[in-house]
Amino acid sequence: MLSNNEKVLNKHLKKLKSKGIKNFINGKEVESSSKKSFENNSPVDGKLICKVTSGNEKDISKAAKSSKKAFENWRKVDHKERRNILYKIADEIVKHSEEIAVLESYDTGQPIRFTKKSAIRGAANFKYFADKTIDAANGLSTPDTHHVNFSMRQAIGPVGIITPWNVPFMLSTWKIAPALASGCTVIHKPAEFSPVTADLLVKIAHDAGLPEGVWNTVHGFGESAGKSLTEHPDVKAIAFVGETSTGSHIMRQGAETLKRVHFELGGKNPVIVFDDADINRALDAVIFMKYSLNGERCTSSSRLILHEKIYDKFVKQLSARVAKLKVGNPLDPKTEIGPMIHPSHQEKVLSYAKIAQDEGAKILNGGGSPRGKLSKGCYVNPVLLEGVTTKMRIGHEEVFGPFLSIMKFKTEAQAIRIANSVRYGLTAYIWTKDSERSHRMARDVEAGMVWINSQNVRHLPAPFGGVKYSGIGRDGGEYSFDFYMETKNICVAYGTHDIPKMGV
Ligand code: NAD
Repeated sequence: MLSNNEKVLNKHLKKLKSKGIKNFINGKEVESSSKKSFENNSPVDGKLICKVTSGNEKDISKAAKSSKKAFENWRKVDHKERRNILYKIADEIVKHSEEIAVLESYDTGQPIRFTKKSAIRGAANFKYFADKTIDAANGLSTPDTHHVNFSMRQAIGPVGIITPWNVPFMLSTWKIAPALASGCTVIHKPAEFSPVTADLLVKIAHDAGLPEGVWNTVHGFGESAGKSLTEHPDVKAIAFVGETSTGSHIMRQGAETLKRVHFELGGKNPVIVFDDADINRALDAVIFMKYSLNGERCTSSSRLILHEKIYDKFVKQLSARVAKLKVGNPLDPKTEIGPMIHPSHQEKVLSYAKIAQDEGAKILNGGGSPRGKLSKGCYVNPVLLEGVTTKMRIGHEEVFGPFLSIMKFKTEAQAIRIANSVRYGLTAYIWTKDSERSHRMARDVEAGMVWINSQNVRHLPAPFGGVKYSGIGRDGGEYSFDFYMETKNICVAYGTHDIPKMGV
């Protein structure tokens, strides 16, 4: 018998298959000017979901023209009206949340238990930034003796938003909502592996009353649609979430037109557990932060740095729990780990198990793919490794899958050395009951975000972003407005200051 999730999926798949996915430009669905399309298959069973139009430079130009025109009005729309539209989008997301969650699960392999939450979080992102529209233009007053200076923020213009395939729905809302709240218009280029909910989202926004041209979506590959977006002179900034190496490309591509960039890139995040930590809570968090969202999570803690005194006991319990993780169809509410996004990514994750063994690490769990009815999908059995060193590739390269490397430490200084030994610096998680030590660790670990005695719990006004090769810039609350807006200073004289005379 079909589950409710499968019924919802079948209903929407039929429509998707017959219509395919097109670009959404100036309030309308349009075929790419090349007339070319690519196939989007599900990682669950390898079956075709739909054909997707393959956008190119011409489509980006059309979208940029539309965004530029729409910007002239959208930037001036009263903040109350802007807020109301964003609220309406949030309400519509909630109404469509079941469909969004089911389609995202089938398109990306993310378990339904997480995609349901991501859909609702997408709505929360819109509501949060809707409430902030009233503050977006705020600046500072800096009076001097003879002049008063004051600043205000103004929307920068049309912006390009390029998103990856992991958690694509939530991440897109996280980027697009503040851009719209700022008064910017948006050209969204979703990842080619996960186009389905991006298409739903832009249509939901227009049905909610967003004026045409304010949000355009162009599908396609990074090297064509993505590259053209980063090079277009009318696109004033690029907000990018994806791999570090792609960030470097984008920086080069955007150099000619002096693009403002915001990068959220890769990570190889440490979780350090001291011997005085609450071991049960730490264990839950370690498992959640590596094996939730299929391990395809930028903030996941992929290096467990364990104090030698608790090492044996902790590893034994951890390994027993990893062995029990339920790998399966992502539409099944019991599933904890679904398939990897694509066969190429499945192959990459599996190859790291081989690399780890060749380098001398010991595999405690997983490393292969499940057999039987899951063999048609991109599944991997969750991996746990010990005996990992900072020199090994698996000790410092991002795998982006359910793949956890364990290392041992004795002193605080040693833990920090291991934690900081990688080129990345997105998040760090510290487990200790010693409050002074927790502050020392938070100060010394190289990361943009540190959680003490906690998994990643996101607070929307707090800054989000990485250091080193993990990113440039911050998101969240005011930080998002600083990116999507220009600060203008206005200086007004009281009429009391001297003006130097020349030529008298
Ligand atoms: P990716 O860099 O391969 O692709 C991301 C997007 O960039 C896609 O839309 C792609 O089409 C586009 N793109 C590729 N080449 C381009 C180019 N030359 N010019 C313009 N656009 C181009 O990343 P991915 O594999 O989709 O996502 C996984 C990566 O994303 C991981 O490294 C992960 O850590 C990172 N990520 C980071 C965060 C964060 O907040 N720091 C969040 C989620 C994911």
